Amino acid sequence: MSEPATTAEDFAARRAQPKAEDPGRPDDGVALYVHLPFCAAKCHYCDFFSVPDEGQDIEGMISAILREAELRAPTHPRTVFIGGGTPSLLSVPQLTRFLDGLDAITHWRSSATEVTAECNPESLDVDKAKALKDLGVPRLSIGFQTLNDETLKLFGRVHSVDDSFRAFEAARTAGIEHLNLDMIYAVPDQTAADWARDLARVLELRPEHLSAYNLTFEEDTRFKRWLDQGKLKSSPEDVELEMFHATRDLTSAAGLNAYEISNHATPGEECVHNVGYWRNAEYLGIGPGAVSKVGLTRVGNPRAIQPYLRRIAAAGHATDWREDPDEYARLAETWWLGLRLAEGVNAEEARAAARFSADVSDPALEVAERLESQGFLERFKGEPNERFRLTATGLPLADAAARQFLDGISAE
Ligand code: SF4
Repeated sequence: MSEPATTAEDFAARRAQPKAEDPGRPDDGVALYVHLPFCAAKCHYCDFFSVPDEGQDIEGMISAILREAELRAPTHPRTVFIGGGTPSLLSVPQLTRFLDGLDAITHWRSSATEVTAECNPESLDVDKAKALKDLGVPRLSIGFQTLNDETLKLFGRVHSVDDSFRAFEAARTAGIEHLNLDMIYAVPDQTAADWARDLARVLELRPEHLSAYNLTFEEDTRFKRWLDQGKLKSSPEDVELEMFHATRDLTSAAGLNAYEISNHATPGEECVHNVGYWRNAEYLGIGPGAVSKVGLTRVGNPRAIQPYLRRIAAAGHATDWREDPDEYARLAETWWLGLRLAEGVNAEEARAAARFSADVSDPALEVAERLESQGFLERFKGEPNERFRLTATGLPLADAAARQFLDGISAE
């Protein structure tokens, strides 16, 4: 046990210490995620770690994240995803300082085959999009969310539908050829016809990639509070299901394949960085609230600005929590993540990815066969192996199928 803190300095030093042991720098080439935590305002449904930018020290945060990169980031990352938060909220000089600094540390410009930055319509114009492209970011993801101005207000977003279309045009004018648009469906009072009409309008823009998530009411959000207080109503399940199927039909007719449950892309435009998450691959996240998977360990930084800054200044890393799941938990996780992908899961590959070595018959295969007999999973001949994937019946129930793996696989 360590000595008790007795002075104000002792307490300050304690607060600055990382709470968990950091697993160290991952191998060369591992995917890099950067979390820039500032937004123009906090959306009412959002549970990502982000804070309104007003009064925040953005320059100080850039310095801290670069310091963290020096100590933890992989060199030559294969992919880079700059998320948050709203990275497009940074000014061009701030983006330049940050991206040049990150390149000096990781050499991402010469190694990454895919680099994405998240943007919001209120902070993306032609100059910003062009600057991002010139700085080495060829792929942008724009948060449209809905084509209804009233719903944007309900969401607490600070842009209009017109702003969203203007941002899209700005990105194209700047020469951005890889664009994702984020949309949310199953909004209170939205009908399936409303959603189909809005989605068709978005698809007319011919984005290379579209993410469409159904609205969820996450803990510690205003939306969850309003739901509990009866001020908001969630969509009925049958309407949600109708919207889910409409999404697949309309995106497929527009030439976008559903390579993941909520993600659709024209061939070759799938988000390689995110596919890595679903394949349960390693990645390193830097910035407040960022999560990493290094080797078999998962770690996370504090979801708060000051503790993050204090720990980076004092210790160089800010690791706040650490999980070292056993091989059964790793196997369950590999299956439930992998089943989100259209490519599905091969049992042997999943065991290898989870480094599952227990001398027992494969417990995940038993769960998969049970779900297959219930019509939720099917086997198919993949390349080169037999694989499992969700059936048309199972797809909208992916979360319930995931529970079967998480609850059904353990050492007991
Ligand atoms: S802009 Fe995105 S990250 Fe920021 S609060 Fe809204 S949903 Fe969350």
